[in-house]
Amino acid sequence: MEELNSGNFIEDIVEEELASGKVKEVITRFPPEPNGYLHIGHAKAICIDFGIAAKYGGKCNLRYDDTNPSKEDIEYVNSIKEDIKWLGFKWNAELYASDYFDRMYDCAAELIKKGLAYVCDYSAEEIRATRGTLTSPGTNSPWRDRSVEENLRLFAEMKAGKYADGEKVLRAKIDMASPNINMRDPVIYRILRATHHRTGDKWCIYPMYDFAHPLEDAFEGVTHSICTLEFEDHRPLYDWVKINCGFIPGPRQIEFARLNIKRTIMSKRYLKKLVDEGKVEGWSDPRMPTLSGMRERGYPPEAIRAFCAAAGVAKANSELEVSMLEHFVRDNLNMNAKRAMVVQDPIRLTIVNMEGSEECEVEDNPNAEVKTYHTVNFGKNLYIDRSDFAPVPPPKYKRLVPGGMVRLKGAYILQYVSHETDKDGNVTEVKCEFIPESKQGGANAGMKVKGVIQWVNADDCVDVTLNEFDYLLLDGEGDFNDRLTPNSKVVHTGAKAEGMLKDAKPYDRFQFMRMGYYSAVKGYGSGKYEFNMITGLKDSYGK
Ligand code: ATP
Ligand code: MG
Repeated sequence: MEELNSGNFIEDIVEEELASGKVKEVITRFPPEPNGYLHIGHAKAICIDFGIAAKYGGKCNLRYDDTNPSKEDIEYVNSIKEDIKWLGFKWNAELYASDYFDRMYDCAAELIKKGLAYVCDYSAEEIRATRGTLTSPGTNSPWRDRSVEENLRLFAEMKAGKYADGEKVLRAKIDMASPNINMRDPVIYRILRATHHRTGDKWCIYPMYDFAHPLEDAFEGVTHSICTLEFEDHRPLYDWVKINCGFIPGPRQIEFARLNIKRTIMSKRYLKKLVDEGKVEGWSDPRMPTLSGMRERGYPPEAIRAFCAAAGVAKANSELEVSMLEHFVRDNLNMNAKRAMVVQDPIRLTIVNMEGSEECEVEDNPNAEVKTYHTVNFGKNLYIDRSDFAPVPPPKYKRLVPGGMVRLKGAYILQYVSHETDKDGNVTEVKCEFIPESKQGGANAGMKVKGVIQWVNADDCVDVTLNEFDYLLLDGEGDFNDRLTPNSKVVHTGAKAEGMLKDAKPYDRFQFMRMGYYSAVKGYGSGKYEFNMITGLKDSYGK
């Protein structure tokens, strides 16, 4: 598997700690909250979390951070597993934060006993109002000095369901004047009546992320808790929790920059909105930047990993070009996708001097080390694309024109004979002669003409539908809602594909010559002959 760019700062930290003996075995975790499907940003985190563990012979666990039942669902739990496997990673253990709810409750009670946590009766609004600002300190809660006994009783009553949602919270007792607002007596437990997808209605209080996460890491013996930059300011609280709950030295939090890509929505909340509002056909719509969307689109997982490796591990946020991701997809497909012939907008081509049918060999992939070929049948009744014949050619047009010649890929050179049009002037049929001695691969294959075009045999082709996609977002900045591309999916029916494609399997990837890369859709073959366009042929990255 491809390595992250060697020598990144996380590896430096890990190597130093291994060398000094501070860490014996590297243990990391990938900690998704099951409140949506994974997106390409998560792929980056997965590559780092799993990659670091693998590089140093350690372990990476999959841990669901399921402490917020109101937004979580088993559908997401399952999709996350499927997507990590698809991306090519294997977790050491499958773990759930909710399995630790009892232990977390005990840790909170211990903090109370140490005089480091208290039950506060402020509403969320009052807590916000008394928190202070970046330039002014907060003010102490009037409930800050409750006795340990009273706090223990109230916390137990919160757990027992005596109070309404939001009526009380448990707060860490740190410092309302701390320059770091996260340290101003943060809420660590709240009352929330919501059925949890694993613990059901057992709990009506749930731990907050900043309290739960360090404990989850500590319980599991995580050595390096790698997360994104927005948690940098939370690290003092992370350390406060782990130390005061008795985990010393405990896990170390390390932050890296989130992956951002232009014209790409990288937030589960917004992606969910698109799904809920029917702007896309579900989380796995091929336009979605989710891993399952990319799978449906036809992106090879290896290409996503190569992209993440090239994106590197940075300490400062930036926004990458979407062409960079496409570059890695195209690079992979150029090496691996089988070539096939398809015409999107067919017109009849009749070979007037041809009878019967004859086999031609078409190269599967010019980049393959071992050359292989597949057979296409040349015959009298063919199709070519409407764009490959011009009754009145524009300047520099190199394809078929009245009086001209063109080569059919893998087959013969043709000489134009005549063409027919309908009453509106649209070409309905072109007639040509083929030049028998010009067969590709034959003795006179050196005969040269300027244009080479793809074709299919009308007698054994298959009708296919081609789905073409635009980016979900228009270029620019600002609110996603105002930047949605209208008509980001275009369906082309009536395309004709060479006979080989009758037998394609779902998710098989091809280069349709001169058109682009395409992937057979889920369910392909059983009455459904549809391809998703993965990406075009032209690479604009770095240009
Ligand atoms: P979102 O904002 O899309 O909901 P999240 O960070 O809340 O994302 P989590 O399920 O909490 O999603 O994330 C699991 C892990 O993936 C975390 O360690 C998080 O930091 C990381 N992650 C999420 N988005 C990105 C991103 N764009 N780039 C890199 N890592 C990411
Ligand atoms: Mg989150």
